[in-house]
Amino acid sequence: MNYDVLIIGCGVTGASCAYTLAQHRLRIGILEASNDVANGTTKANSAIVHAGYDPEPGTKMARLNVRGTARMGELCKRLDVPYANIGSFVLSLSEQDDAHVKALYERGLANGVPGLRVLSGEEARAMDPGISPELRCALWAPSAGIVNPWELCLALAETAVRNGAELHLSTPVTAIEREDGLWKLRTPKGEFRAPYVLNCAGVAADRIAALVGDESFRIQPTKGEYFLLDKSEGHRVEHVIFQCPSELGKGVLVTPTVHGNLLVGPNAQRTTADDTSNTAAGLAFVRASALRSVPGINFRDNIRNFAGVRANSDCEDFIIRESEAAPGFIHFAGIRSPGLSAAPAFGEEALALLRAAGLKAEKKENYIDSRRRIRFHELSDAEKNEMIRKDPRWGRVICRCETVTEGEIAEALHSPIPPVSVNGVKRRVGAGMGRCQGGFCGPRVQEIVARELGLDPTQVLMDWEGTWVLCGETKGGAKA
Ligand SMILES: Cc1cc2nc3c(=O)[nH]c(=O)nc-3n(C[C@H](O)[C@H](O)[C@H](O)COP(=O)(O)OP(=O)(O)OC[C@H]3O[C@@H](n4cnc5c(N)ncnc54)[C@H](O)[C@@H]3O)c2cc1C
Repeated sequence: MNYDVLIIGCGVTGASCAYTLAQHRLRIGILEASNDVANGTTKANSAIVHAGYDPEPGTKMARLNVRGTARMGELCKRLDVPYANIGSFVLSLSEQDDAHVKALYERGLANGVPGLRVLSGEEARAMDPGISPELRCALWAPSAGIVNPWELCLALAETAVRNGAELHLSTPVTAIEREDGLWKLRTPKGEFRAPYVLNCAGVAADRIAALVGDESFRIQPTKGEYFLLDKSEGHRVEHVIFQCPSELGKGVLVTPTVHGNLLVGPNAQRTTADDTSNTAAGLAFVRASALRSVPGINFRDNIRNFAGVRANSDCEDFIIRESEAAPGFIHFAGIRSPGLSAAPAFGEEALALLRAAGLKAEKKENYIDSRRRIRFHELSDAEKNEMIRKDPRWGRVICRCETVTEGEIAEALHSPIPPVSVNGVKRRVGAGMGRCQGGFCGPRVQEIVARELGLDPTQVLMDWEGTWVLCGETKGGAKA
């Protein structure tokens, strides 16, 4: 298959690039190894839209963070992605931290972060009484926020697909060759050719670079572990609460989520690219650190632990450039935090680099740039009745914790990028995200997935390829 641009990886980086490029007269192909979008680092992170005072001034990280954050609210509104501009604090809990807070303030000013202020301990605690009484002072950043990271990625990818981009799931790139001035990407689903390629492969970006003979950087996967607490703890704090960062990361934070839960984490542990395990030691560290910032957290209301892997690299900055070893092959590598915050600025960056490499890209006259999703629990009673009158499936509540109806699940299963697993449904409509974590609704969701996608129940996956939920024989005789 021939394209103008091929994108390897459909996390938030690849999706943002696809979203912008698909607004142009271009044939875009997206090759994703997993069976869903947002199934790498994009699904397991702190979900913070960082203000932009952390990165060193003059870096791509600083520029793209501040630009991405400035655009996030408007983008999320247009694509119907949950986002809240709640602001963040960096706490000083020691004399050493005082200097750190001051340095972050200066760095933020240099990066052009709007509205930064250093507040006294009393001022900050008046805004958020959940913060420790040990607080000495705090950096207040009103432009920071929280977002649903996987819905952001899905919304960008879905809009790209509606504008003509072709998404190939379960299509890992395994080899790359140069042939007649084109890049030929080999996958188990065949060969794909294009003069331009964007390497957005997250923790695998160095392995993709090596396939074109580029050994100029190494990814150093670094795991972060979390507690996700029930909504009963969701208002323990009203803002994002950071401690002072270290060279390994931004430190343990405590934050409400856009779904109303409380998120606590992460630690930072060098690991392998596929290690998303939780450890007793890692979680104990997170818990003890978080209690220094917010002493009242009730960890008995924890409903889930998870871990995400940062694509840290041996470079200090994001690696966003055309490869010196491979013309037309452009890296978006080492996209660690604040990659999610910077994502709204990645598409434009990709377009500029592609144009500099020779791509001709004319803007389409008409393209789709909006998206709506019905969230039943947010509708008025009159709207709910109207939906149920048209289709009774909207009246059947499947996930009782999050009030998700069969209508929403069926709609997701027939959307431009339909989920193929129980967790794919969870990421799209929230079924299984509540207190019982799918204990009640899981089997009903499996039934609906099987029915709507025309699958035997034994073929339904929990998440990625090979994670079948059921095994054995069903009435129809099919075997798992
Ligand atoms: C613990 C943690 C906390 C974080 N917190 C924040 C935060 O609060 N705010 C923030 O701004 N950022 C945060 N980040 C960073 C943010 O999550 C990442 O920058 C962002 O998600 C990276 O997206 P990506 O698309 O580059 O990578 P990914 O989401 O990993 O996507 C890469 C994709 O490439 C695919 N792929 C890999 N190899 C191949 C192949 N051979 N062929 C085809 N496809 C392939 C993968 O399957 C994957 O889907 C955090 C990260 C972590 C781990």
